[in-house]
Amino acid sequence: MKLPLRYYGDPVLRKIAQPIEEITDEIRQLATDMIETMEANKGIGLAANQVGRLVRLFVSSMDYEDEEGEVHSQEPEVYINPVITKPSGASIERTEACLSIPELSGPLTRPLTITLEATDLEGNRFAKECYGYEARCFMHEIDHLNGTLYVDRIKGKRRKELEPLLRKIKKKYYKTNSRK
Ligand code: ZN
Repeated sequence: MKLPLRYYGDPVLRKIAQPIEEITDEIRQLATDMIETMEANKGIGLAANQVGRLVRLFVSSMDYEDEEGEVHSQEPEVYINPVITKPSGASIERTEACLSIPELSGPLTRPLTITLEATDLEGNRFAKECYGYEARCFMHEIDHLNGTLYVDRIKGKRRKELEPLLRKIKKKYYKTNSRK
């Protein structure tokens, strides 16, 4: 079932999600619903806060390009209780966007590589080395679980320029939807 998205201005996006102690049917259903919601909105990642649930889970689905330039699609994956280890010293600036902040994107510097540790739906803990956009996506989703949005990481003049746009987005999406 596709779930309603929570938008910029919604207090649930500012809350810290709680660890998942046990993978119940409810958690499995939430993961399935979140994948459906992410795909319906053409997103590459979605954290539980974004559908109003405060549990440490995100889903992601990303195409990747191989050395021959061929693009492969990957099955959507579920990441439970994710933790980032070993962020690289090297970082890179790329444009970032978020399903909870429609119509906006902004440049943000983040580490180039990370190791992500998480648990899958079968309860297996695994580690994955990630690079570039994938690493960036995972950092973005884990930020959500900690109540942080990518725009919070944009500082100074660039952030000031975003303010009026953020106010508009809050009014257009969050206030409109929460009145229903
Ligand atoms: Zn986001």
